[in-house]
Amino acid sequence: MPNDPVITSVGGQIAPAPSSNDHPDPGDRIHDVVIIGSGPAGLTAAVYAARANLQPLLVEGMVEGGPTGGQLTLTTDVENFPGFPEGIMGPELIQNMRTQAERFGTTFVTEDVVAAEIEQQPISLRTASGTTIRTRSLIVATGAKPRRLEVPGEDELWGGGVSACATCDGFFFRDKHVIVVGGGDSAMEEATFLTKFASKVTVVHRREELRASVIMQERAFKNDRIEFVFNATVARIEGSDGLMTGVVLEDTVTGETRTLAADGLFLAIGHIPNTWLFRDTLDMDDEGYLLVQEPTTATNVEGVFASGDVMDHTYRQAVTAAGTGCKAAIDAERWLAGGAGHIAAEPAAEPETADI
Ligand SMILES: Cc1cc2nc3c(=O)[nH]c(=O)nc-3n(C[C@H](O)[C@H](O)[C@H](O)COP(=O)(O)OP(=O)(O)OC[C@H]3O[C@@H](n4cnc5c(N)ncnc54)[C@H](O)[C@@H]3O)c2cc1C
Repeated sequence: MPNDPVITSVGGQIAPAPSSNDHPDPGDRIHDVVIIGSGPAGLTAAVYAARANLQPLLVEGMVEGGPTGGQLTLTTDVENFPGFPEGIMGPELIQNMRTQAERFGTTFVTEDVVAAEIEQQPISLRTASGTTIRTRSLIVATGAKPRRLEVPGEDELWGGGVSACATCDGFFFRDKHVIVVGGGDSAMEEATFLTKFASKVTVVHRREELRASVIMQERAFKNDRIEFVFNATVARIEGSDGLMTGVVLEDTVTGETRTLAADGLFLAIGHIPNTWLFRDTLDMDDEGYLLVQEPTTATNVEGVFASGDVMDHTYRQAVTAAGTGCKAAIDAERWLAGGAGHIAAEPAAEPETADI
């Protein structure tokens, strides 16, 4: 028997949206815009769509694609989001965005979407509780999950030395020894970047050779702060009082184990985009990231737009996710107003000439 959907807030306190309050059941009407995902991309899309008076419904997720609020809820200090000179805690930044979206009339449903029929109008989504949500346009902002090692100590020390984002957390490892796990281009990039802060970076790779491009390998090999341990996997991460102290490495050839002391561990073994809902309908690249029609956020299906990490495996930052969330809301608004032809950037207006 399906549970009732959890509607955590309806409309805003400062600028209430009458229609949202009149329709507390997300399944009782056809919405103009539904957003899936409550990270920076989804919440920014909600702010823009709500301010355009589209009364968006945001399905914020719970389990399937990561926690409600997205990846930033898993971290502590965010020091690179503009507007916060002293930095801000990840969960607080997300809460601020949510409050802002709510203020302009976004309705939130705290559930996962478990099925999506998007090649029809209206688009139809089913949530875990069995509610059907219908909408004319859809913004997919379901993010991506960093691939995890799934070893003892990883969950407990996540944020206490274990991270998946060197750009975000490298700064906290000044003059420390950190480990990077991986052998591809991103591992080399993360390792090289981390030498700006860390006194020593050890790259641990399970094979005898790296997968990274030659140029990236050469750059890393030339850097005298980077050391390499080949044919090894991390069997366990150790810590004390919530802070990482080292790892136990296992030799993939001999099976021998040894402890390597370190203050941080960065995973660079890839991300998993949350796109399984759209496996048969939306165009994706080989890794499962959604493809959009640049410079817009339009996907291959009419009325469906994508924003944030789910369509970006290059930058993966809160500010870039927020930026594409803004684009997706504007694209959806234009599409609702006039169809696909209205999405493309409007041409610059002719300079006005004075009547003579
Ligand atoms: C440890 C860590 C630290 C970081 N630190 C920083 C930093 O300091 N600065 C920075 O700029 N970036 C940082 N990042 C990166 C940043 O968090 C991401 O780039 C950003 O969160 C991406 O936003 P998003 O909205 O695209 O997706 P996400 O934040 O991944 O959010 C995805 C949302 O979709 C929801 N969802 C997924 N599937 C479903 C479904 N089926 N139904 C309903 N909902 C669903 C999830 O629940 C979630 O709400 C960090 C990332 C990590 C992991």
